[in-house]
Amino acid sequence: MSQDQPLESLDQWEDFVRDEVYPQPGTRAREGYRNYDDPGRDCVREFYRQNHRQQTYDFVAEKKRQYTSLEQRQMGVFEALDFLNTLVDDSDPDIELDQLQHLLQTSEAIRADGHEDWFVLTGLLHDLGKVLCLFGEPQWAVTGDSFPVGCQFSERIVYHEFFEANPDSTDETYNSPLGVYEPNCGLRNVHLSWGHDEYVYHVLKDFLPDPALYMMRFHSFYAWHREGEYDCLCDDHDREMLGWVKKFNPYDLYSKSPSPPDWVELRPYYADLIEKYLPSAIRF
Ligand code: FE
Ligand code: FE
Repeated sequence: MSQDQPLESLDQWEDFVRDEVYPQPGTRAREGYRNYDDPGRDCVREFYRQNHRQQTYDFVAEKKRQYTSLEQRQMGVFEALDFLNTLVDDSDPDIELDQLQHLLQTSEAIRADGHEDWFVLTGLLHDLGKVLCLFGEPQWAVTGDSFPVGCQFSERIVYHEFFEANPDSTDETYNSPLGVYEPNCGLRNVHLSWGHDEYVYHVLKDFLPDPALYMMRFHSFYAWHREGEYDCLCDDHDREMLGWVKKFNPYDLYSKSPSPPDWVELRPYYADLIEKYLPSAIRF
């Protein structure tokens, strides 16, 4: 098990969230998930051990400095999707289309329910921020639950006990319920742990409507959208947008269609949709 890449694939974390933490759509966290006997569990534990130890306020500030000016490269959306799809485990020939398949299954399920076209596009693009892995970031800085840094870590965050090794949890600037924040300052003023959600928000923030950006930016913030924590940091706009984030979540976790969507057939539809909202090249 490598130090930076404890998971065999990036989807292992999502499978854990779906199958072990929130097995029923719309449920609260399962209390007994820590005892669940699963071969992937040790990798997920190790993943969280690294993530919770190293996602500090200073780390997040440093990653924001490094990435939010979008100076990595310019790509069209199709190029970015192809690029993301190179994120496969070489040892497993069956998961070749994994990343793209997950995005298409999500977007097609949203489309099948007759939602607005920008919601469908949100489904297609919500994990695009995982290209961070291809820029050399370790898994613990790309995926996993997101949570605020700069204030106390909620006990409802999975594997909460690993925060003991995070230096911020013994720093009195950060270990009160509000920490460095003003009450009800709004989540846009709160720093969340660094990963693919926050990054894709910065990449797409000029192009999509607010609910779309919220769904992408906070889709891994389970302590908020599932567990109802951190309301003291939210303003009325966040509470209004929470409904969208909750609406998105089942499409992300539970849409696995028995017949996988055919990218070749669907590509013209998505080409039009992408062209409607996004320029031909976007900055990453
Ligand atoms: Fe995601
Ligand atoms: Fe996803």
